[in-house]
Amino acid sequence: MNSFLFRYSILFVLLITLGSWGEKAHRKINSSCVEYFPKELQQLKVWAPILAEHGSDADIRKKNDKNEFVKHFIDIDIFDEFNTSTKIEEDFDALCNKYGKAMVIKNGTLPWVTDSTYKALVLNFKHKNWEQAVLTAADLGHYVGDGFMPLHITVNYNGQLSDQTGIHRRYEETMIDKYIDEISFKTSCIDKVPDVKSTIFRNLYNNHSYVSTLLQADSRAYGQAGQQYDETYYESLWKETGLFTTRLLQESSRTLASFIYSAWLEAGKPEIPI
Ligand SMILES: [Zn+2]
Repeated sequence: MNSFLFRYSILFVLLITLGSWGEKAHRKINSSCVEYFPKELQQLKVWAPILAEHGSDADIRKKNDKNEFVKHFIDIDIFDEFNTSTKIEEDFDALCNKYGKAMVIKNGTLPWVTDSTYKALVLNFKHKNWEQAVLTAADLGHYVGDGFMPLHITVNYNGQLSDQTGIHRRYEETMIDKYIDEISFKTSCIDKVPDVKSTIFRNLYNNHSYVSTLLQADSRAYGQAGQQYDETYYESLWKETGLFTTRLLQESSRTLASFIYSAWLEAGKPEIPI
């Protein structure tokens, strides 16, 4: 195999395997968001199965759209300013001016894509395009969810820099799929989000703090399992990360609900068809 083909095939494998939360987790995030809807949105509760069904459409698009891949992550700690101030320039153009557009795009555009998907939802609501609105909301849920997956916010996204290669899939898919039935969310009230973009970034900054916690849990679980990834490893990984993982998934779902509600308000509360 020549080097071009080899590199291409590696990229392809990464595209397919480093998805986001697994399909089950995205389903849960998306379908559960309706439980947070206020009274005014009760009629949109029927969206739940459609939001679930289309929760991973964004991942599926990666196979045919080469521009989709970078929309699912941001290696936020590659930016020097993040490591000194735990935040980055949030304006896309201003960040590109600092680091170069190619560098910014290469390291992921998740926050800006989440924001533009929110804006698309506002437009769908304004035009009362309900069929498209539910699909846009499903994509919004996907991107919001990816922003709550710690390994989608770091340059060490697969543990490759800390000798823990494979943690991405072990955590987001194998572990979650094993324990999905133990994950349940508490409902609570939601409000209009005053500034969607800054909320997206604030969540990323908060969620990044789980990167090191997760990597440490992986190391300990691997040690406890006698340096293998067997049942003991997954039991231990879940024991150490289950609580915050459940909270991250729950907050994804709650944030999605508040974004859908805010988009509907911003669109002028269009009458929802029965
Ligand atoms: Zn994704």
